[in-house]
Amino acid sequence: MKALIFKIDRLNTHNGPGFRTVIYFKGCPLHCTWCHNPEGISPKKEVWFNASKCIGCGTCVEMCPVNAIELSENGITIDRNTCIGCQLCTVVCPSEAIEKIGEEQSVDELMRIILQDKYLFESSGGGVTVTGGEPGNHPDFVSELFKRCKEEGIHTAFDTSGMVSESALEKIIPFTDLVFLDIKTLDPEQSLKYTGLPIQKLMGTIEWLNSFRTSHSSFPEIEIRTPLIPGITDDNENLFAIGQFIEHSLKQVKNWELCMFNDLCEDKYLRMGIKWALNDKTQNSVDYSRVLAIQNEFPALGIAVTGYISH
Ligand code: SF4
Ligand code: SF4
Repeated sequence: MKALIFKIDRLNTHNGPGFRTVIYFKGCPLHCTWCHNPEGISPKKEVWFNASKCIGCGTCVEMCPVNAIELSENGITIDRNTCIGCQLCTVVCPSEAIEKIGEEQSVDELMRIILQDKYLFESSGGGVTVTGGEPGNHPDFVSELFKRCKEEGIHTAFDTSGMVSESALEKIIPFTDLVFLDIKTLDPEQSLKYTGLPIQKLMGTIEWLNSFRTSHSSFPEIEIRTPLIPGITDDNENLFAIGQFIEHSLKQVKNWELCMFNDLCEDKYLRMGIKWALNDKTQNSVDYSRVLAIQNEFPALGIAVTGYISH
């Protein structure tokens, strides 16, 4: 059993308690306008292209089996619609201007990497976090990985968009200590327009988690994450509605994390040949006083504000 993984981040301190090994699964059913991991959206292998490293040798053009690469006086262009993700160009490029996005890995391979940091997990209360993309798209794989982690006494965290089937939850949640669940907006139209997530699907996932909690003596903690996207999710009305919803409908929530907007992903879009829809926004685009007002409004929710904060 293998899954396509696009990044493994060791010694991470932002995705759960303690030091963590964060595993990024490729493939996401949503298409959030602001996505900060565009390389995780497609479930297929892809390539980065960094024009500043390219020496214009043309080796990749000759190697490509489907003629997806063109070399002109303006440099290299990759036709992403024609590219089949064979990644042969990454093997022959002498300057590492083209690099792989996505590599198939087995549970055994991941466990070998995870276990290298076991002593750090033990001393820091850390563990493993799966994210993406949507790790819930790989239920058997994640379930097996988490089962192996639990056998080693390693804490497990599952980061999901909520767009996940009940059968996947049934396989993954019994081996999960912490669930990160995104609530970006509760407005059905906004949700569909900006993320592709039908709000009923998110509600179904929340109901499933609530019923798991009432029918099991041991159940995972939940942390809600809301990305503050200027002009889309950061208005008072949306944040107030989410705060009220958490207070009334999600009893096992431990924290609510408000993630400040940043534009650090712009370079990723450039290297994938895509224009980022929010390239007119900056790190200062979210009004921090509004975030403080929400924090004061819901003192019981343990609101943590993360990311870049400008005063
Ligand atoms: S990944 Fe394969 S198909 Fe795509 S551009 Fe490179 S060589 Fe061509
Ligand atoms: S092989 Fe690498 S350096 Fe040569 S043209 Fe292609 S991307 Fe540029």
